Amino acid sequence: MTCNVFPQNPPDTIPPFLVMESDEYFPEEGDPFIEEDHEYEEGEFVQQFDAATLSKMTPFEIYSAIWDTARINPYGLDMKLKNDTTLLTLWRNPNADYSHPTCGDVTSEFGMRGHRYHYGIDLDLETGDAVLSAFEGTVRIAKYSPSYGYYVIVRHPNGLETLYAHLSRILVKSGDKVKAGDLVGLGGNTGRSRGSHLHFEIRFLGQQIDPRQVIAFENYSCKSQLLPICSSTFQYQHVVSEHKAKAGNSKYYRVKKGDTLSKIARKHNISVKKLCKLNKISTRTKLSAGRKLRVN
Ligand SMILES: [Zn+2]
Repeated sequence: MTCNVFPQNPPDTIPPFLVMESDEYFPEEGDPFIEEDHEYEEGEFVQQFDAATLSKMTPFEIYSAIWDTARINPYGLDMKLKNDTTLLTLWRNPNADYSHPTCGDVTSEFGMRGHRYHYGIDLDLETGDAVLSAFEGTVRIAKYSPSYGYYVIVRHPNGLETLYAHLSRILVKSGDKVKAGDLVGLGGNTGRSRGSHLHFEIRFLGQQIDPRQVIAFENYSCKSQLLPICSSTFQYQHVVSEHKAKAGNSKYYRVKKGDTLSKIARKHNISVKKLCKLNKISTRTKLSAGRKLRVN
């Protein structure tokens, strides 16, 4: 199957100031579990109802009642508590209602990656390649964050939102209406990124779901017309909590110049053997300053 979803040609050149060096992040052995964190910034926030009214509304009504151009997940819903199954309609016309965002191979899956949870799927691309909205919707957020780089969130009427990150250039603004296949930006390597790729997320009422539940990446198409969503869609959040709890009990020490394994072991009241085992290193491992070692 071929991927021919580029209805628009990207511009030939990208202003160089928009192609930023990435703040590379390489998870290391011994890094504590870190959740992908995204800052809260200034932006427009419209909430039509007060907290008491919101508490009586269904999740879907809350989704519709909040419009926030700053916070990635402003809805405050815990989907693990969802006690029914929602069948979402993903398309009516399979040839027009879905567009693959970019045709590169999947290079990283949704799930644990090193000591972080990866809440999206990475797709290979070259800086400057077109990135297209997967479904029809309204651009809610289009801005820069240190972790996502230049990113766009498109809100779709069925409760899904799609997020496109590490762009070299944003080509839409908050409030823009887009159709499936409309250009939202150009692929890049901005934010915390290792090489040009698209970090693609799908969220339901604010919380990420595995994009593979929605999309058959090998066929560049939706898996099915209807998508069932229930609490088990969000079961992965228990894995995240477990890793967080584990990490919370671990202590780490950052190696300083002149440190040796025995010095560090003595300082933390453990044997060199245990220190090596905890960090999967040998007694001959050369320690460089700045490296984090687990010490309990
Ligand atoms: Zn990613």
